[in-house]
Amino acid sequence: MNNNSILEVKVFRPTVAEFDDPSSFMKKIERDPVCQATGLAKIIPPVLRKHTPIIIPDDFRLNSCILQTTKILNETGVTHLLFQKKRAMTLGQFKDLAKNFEHSEMSLAQRETNILQNLCNITKKRTPVPIYAIDNVISRFPENYPNWNLDKFQGGSILTETEMPGINKSFSNYGMFGTFFGMHAEDSNMASINMLHEGAPKTWYGIPATMKIKLEELWKTEIFNETGCDLFIKHKALMYHPKVLRDNGIDFCKVDQFEGEMIVTLYGVLHQGFNHGFNCSEAINWASPEWKKYYDKTTLCSCRPYGKKLHALHELLGKFLENVSLEPSNLVETETSPASHSHCPVVDDKPSRIKPIIKD
Ligand SMILES: [Zn+2]
Repeated sequence: MNNNSILEVKVFRPTVAEFDDPSSFMKKIERDPVCQATGLAKIIPPVLRKHTPIIIPDDFRLNSCILQTTKILNETGVTHLLFQKKRAMTLGQFKDLAKNFEHSEMSLAQRETNILQNLCNITKKRTPVPIYAIDNVISRFPENYPNWNLDKFQGGSILTETEMPGINKSFSNYGMFGTFFGMHAEDSNMASINMLHEGAPKTWYGIPATMKIKLEELWKTEIFNETGCDLFIKHKALMYHPKVLRDNGIDFCKVDQFEGEMIVTLYGVLHQGFNHGFNCSEAINWASPEWKKYYDKTTLCSCRPYGKKLHALHELLGKFLENVSLEPSNLVETETSPASHSHCPVVDDKPSRIKPIIKD
């Protein structure tokens, strides 16, 4: 057992004046040494800027409903999330289903233990299996919410020219107890902002930039042998039990996100997590000119068709950088370049069967 400890995520409680200037505030987070060290930050908006999320009617159709089962990859202790797309359901049906999973009688810590215990073995034999309703192109910010309506967020971001759902237009996700988002960095190493509008908390784990290569190399051969991809982490379908991280000397940070709180993930930071019960969150990507150096270091998997899509998106995102020039003073050195990813010989990542992208 290693002595590495769980790093604390910095919590920001901005004043109204600070909060009302999102560009300066995001710059502050981006340049904060503690945030750079852990990779995550939490923002608790001032009480005077607390928002009431728009109510979505129960007959709203959730089109991307993902059934999540899991299996342990041999000998590694790493969990492979297996995603199966289910028929669309209404929000009302989703809420009813979520009730079967609720464990509101448990404390936060008990729920975490329970969810992590089950991480090893969620199969259809053990019914029912939780469902994650992802990538809904809706925003729950009121039209008049000033400055931090993520669906229209500027905040000094350079990702604003062309509308791209899930990038600069919000995706909202509905979770239930025991639904996971696998370990991943944002596409092309962008940063992200996630607001938890309502419901049970979401627990996040982040991997500091200094540990990124170590994690990507961990069990590489074993994961390759099982999945056929030598950069399978790009598939967003691996969950690392904190014990696996600890036992392998990988430092990580952890933070619980509650209703009305935002989590920021910085450029290229690997993160994963799960939901403690029914909830709804909304997320976008964000990037200042600093992003350029992280964009340039993006590694991509070469599986087809999955990796091909990633390459296409990477190219598309590059257009946001066309007019960006970095002045030396803007450069903040935090990360060493990851090892280059040569090839990925297997044509289809069979174990996943389908490829929804669950990102929070
Ligand atoms: Zn791949």
